[in-house]
Amino acid sequence: MVTWINALSKTRNRLQDALRRVFSRGDSPEGVSFEELEESLIQADVPPRMSAGLIQDLEKSYKGLRVDRRDMLRKMLADRLQGPSPFKWEKRSEPLVILVVGVNGSGKTTTCAKLAHLAEKEGASALLGAADTFRAAGSDQLKLWADRLGCDVVGGKQGADAAAVAFDALDAAVARSKDVLIVDTAGRMHTREPLMRELQKTRSALGKRLPGAPHETWIVLDATLGQNAVLQASVFHEAVPLTGVIVAKLDGSAKAGFLFSIARDLGVPIRFAGLGEGPDDLVPFDADAFAGALLNVETNGAGG
Ligand code: GDP
Repeated sequence: MVTWINALSKTRNRLQDALRRVFSRGDSPEGVSFEELEESLIQADVPPRMSAGLIQDLEKSYKGLRVDRRDMLRKMLADRLQGPSPFKWEKRSEPLVILVVGVNGSGKTTTCAKLAHLAEKEGASALLGAADTFRAAGSDQLKLWADRLGCDVVGGKQGADAAAVAFDALDAAVARSKDVLIVDTAGRMHTREPLMRELQKTRSALGKRLPGAPHETWIVLDATLGQNAVLQASVFHEAVPLTGVIVAKLDGSAKAGFLFSIARDLGVPIRFAGLGEGPDDLVPFDADAFAGALLNVETNGAGG
């Protein structure tokens, strides 16, 4: 299992030199290169205005306060990412329906399988719905993962109507008394309008089968894209209101600072993070562990 500290090494490398210089100066502000730290934060895709604000606050701390400044910066970063309390997987009388969206290649299919695995580890029975009927290998890939993890999956053939597949999957989830249904969807970005229409149709098909469904709509973002991932998310958010973000491939990204834009600009909570390719490498998002790993400060959650 990949740790937060390991997963964030690429982004941390962008900050390391500047951090070392700022924090090795003891109490003296003389010659401390705050600008360099601000630059590095921006290079790691922390939004420029937020980087400037953080540096201002940090500079102020040099005047008088005797505090551990690395820890202070860690808290400042974590505060800006705090979201609602962690998502709870529960036993339910009717399935909780989670629609998972995102562009191809973001890590969506793998993430769906990992989510089902996570739900089952927490004691909630899960069913996967393979509604990515556009790609030839879309549902095959999900089935392979489901087999590997021992999860149930239902899905249509290539070219089948995605909304109908989602409806049938929910039917099966109800019939089998599953606690959670996780619906994987198509993500071909080059045909954006039809895709958004298909997602809306899928959404309403789920609502027809079970009023209130989908209860959650989560987008999977590829963390290696940095700020561009936020743009993608806003396009989806206009078409299908998002209730959560899952950041995949954090371990491959040197631009994890874009998470601050999600929290601030998109206003949608970050629910889970993909820290690696293994089935157990999808973990609940933990702002303290994330900020600690960025600065190489151990927190309770940062190790695991
Ligand atoms: P989809 O096209 O969006 O359904 O993407 P896939 O689920 O097929 O994933 C694309 C690639 O990203 C695969 O090689 C996955 O193993 C990889 N991937 C997904 N999540 C993560 C992650 O958190 N870390 C790493 N390193 N790779 C990931």
